[in-house]
Amino acid sequence: MSLNNNKENTYDAIVIGSGISGGYAAMELCKKGYKTLMLERGRMVEHGDYPTANDDPWDLINQNMLSQEEIKKHYPKQNRLNWWVRQDIKHWINKDDEYDYDEVERFDWIRGHHVGGRSIMWGRECYRWSDLDFEANKKDGYGVDWPIRYKDIEPWYDYVETFVGVCGQNEGLSQVPDGVFLPPFPLNCAEQFLREKVKEVYPDRVITPSRKAHLTEYNPEIHLGKRGQCQSRNRCSRGCPYGAYFSSQSATIPVAQDTGNLTIRANSIVSEILYNKETGKAYGVIIKDAISNEEIEINARIIFCNASTIGTTAILLNSRSESFPNGLGNVSGELGHNIMDHHYGMGASGSLPNMFLDKYYKGRKPGGFYIPRFTNTNTATKRNDYIRGFGYQGGAGRGSNIPDGLIGEELKNEIFKPGPWHIGMSAFAEMLPYHENKMFLNFDKRDKYGIPTITFDAKLRDNEFKLREHSIECAVEMLETIGCTNIQTYNNATAPGACIHEMGTARMGRDPKTSVLNKWNQMHEVPNVFVTDGACMTSSATQNPSITYMALTARAVDYADKQMKKGLF
Ligand SMILES: Cc1cc2nc3c(=O)[nH]c(=O)nc-3n(C[C@H](O)[C@H](O)[C@H](O)COP(=O)(O)OP(=O)(O)OC[C@H]3O[C@@H](n4cnc5c(N)ncnc54)[C@H](O)[C@@H]3O)c2cc1C
Ligand code: SF4
Repeated sequence: MSLNNNKENTYDAIVIGSGISGGYAAMELCKKGYKTLMLERGRMVEHGDYPTANDDPWDLINQNMLSQEEIKKHYPKQNRLNWWVRQDIKHWINKDDEYDYDEVERFDWIRGHHVGGRSIMWGRECYRWSDLDFEANKKDGYGVDWPIRYKDIEPWYDYVETFVGVCGQNEGLSQVPDGVFLPPFPLNCAEQFLREKVKEVYPDRVITPSRKAHLTEYNPEIHLGKRGQCQSRNRCSRGCPYGAYFSSQSATIPVAQDTGNLTIRANSIVSEILYNKETGKAYGVIIKDAISNEEIEINARIIFCNASTIGTTAILLNSRSESFPNGLGNVSGELGHNIMDHHYGMGASGSLPNMFLDKYYKGRKPGGFYIPRFTNTNTATKRNDYIRGFGYQGGAGRGSNIPDGLIGEELKNEIFKPGPWHIGMSAFAEMLPYHENKMFLNFDKRDKYGIPTITFDAKLRDNEFKLREHSIECAVEMLETIGCTNIQTYNNATAPGACIHEMGTARMGRDPKTSVLNKWNQMHEVPNVFVTDGACMTSSATQNPSITYMALTARAVDYADKQMKKGLF
């Protein structure tokens, strides 16, 4: 059923981007009967089109590493952290020499342009946000107040978690609320030991199994799409042929396609959104066809922006008209500002001497443990040196056993034995929404498609550095509690972007004078344009954000549908 018309190049809805949030928006719109066009600037990737998914270690050249020459030529920014670009996943990562950007301050903008976006290679960690997060700006005065609270989004977390399939364990914590979970990947013996011992000494530090978008149990009536049960092979970021983790390819796109309402147009770079000042609404987009270089206008009643935080804001800033000379819906001047990310690269690790040496594990479970935020959660845990907080992701496993001084058969026998248990935890900390941290367009420097390039000017500040220090202290305390030896700490401050949780730049808020979007992710000034990717975020919290983008997206589509049924656009 089309709710609009049959004119060529005219749809009910346009969704810009096919990643985690774009896939969700398209699925929800299609399910509600809207003829939906999904525009993706990168190439088509069908489910199963994962070239390295079944490669074994010996199939990957250079032990899965890239040559220094290749890194220098193609990935000088993408690989700054020196771990992320590998042979098995390099086809999912943009080459810097094809898609460059500029920096006043270093910004590691890590991404891939293809259908599915980063839903293919994301880490799949899913944690709900709480009122500790939604009330934070109001309480401490950084940024503007979120226009929503946990109760507004709670049913939508239930809704998306049910479809996505998130495994995890309920813990009854208010700061990272429980959810609708599939059985967790259980903690191994060393992780369980950490959980029990830390709880005795620090009752507010909870070590819980990672909450991940993996089908540890598969229910064909709920987990629609091209999906099956997780086999614990931990090759997820190459793409999963079982469809066992949530991606656009395995989950949202097939469901949208089954409605008969979805059209996907790959190689279609949206350069701007078109605005009609007579109606006060957007009426379509301009795309550049990446193959033919043709410029095409496409029209729709409603537009969902899901090109990722930076991609969406770049399109909005480039959508200049007489009514909006500084970018679509940018009367507040906040578009591009308040950019955030989490910061990491700090934590601690240690060994468990002579413990659990008769204990092994099998399979390659794709998750370890999570420690939800435990500072500044109430008056008892309030800190005087910083505001907000941090959580940890970590895991324990047996190391290798490479004894000194042996050769031949003796050495061979020894190296087949597992080494001692090691345990490590890495903090993920909040970044405040500073107005000064921003991205902007350089209209004098255009890319090969004639679109203005992006410049970043954002950095960590005092509060972030204090959080880092305390997170290391707390990690050491926990490792000492279980008797770890050889405790090593690290504090390599990452630049914004490196945690790949970039947020902000078109924030939600109560006041159109200080924010871009209202409580429904709808532009204050252009009611038929919705932004439901990370650009909408008003603060960054400490939890990985993508499940929140999905919940906000499903909520916004539901609202937009009601508005459309009233004939408002
Ligand atoms: C290695 C890694 C690990 C991660 N781990 C986690 C995790 O554990 N938990 C978590 O919550 N998050 C994680 N993330 C972050 C997560 O991937 C992102 O938050 C999420 O993908 C954002 O969804 P999105 O829809 O906004 O953008 P994306 O998934 O990036 O999709 C955006 C799409 O829009 C397209 N696009 C951009 N510009 C245009 C344009 N002009 N025209 C048309 N199309 C355009 C892009 O090509 C892309 O396909 C991780 C990311 C990476 C890379
Ligand atoms: S661990 Fe699960 S989701 Fe990851 S590749 Fe294996 S089967 Fe797929």
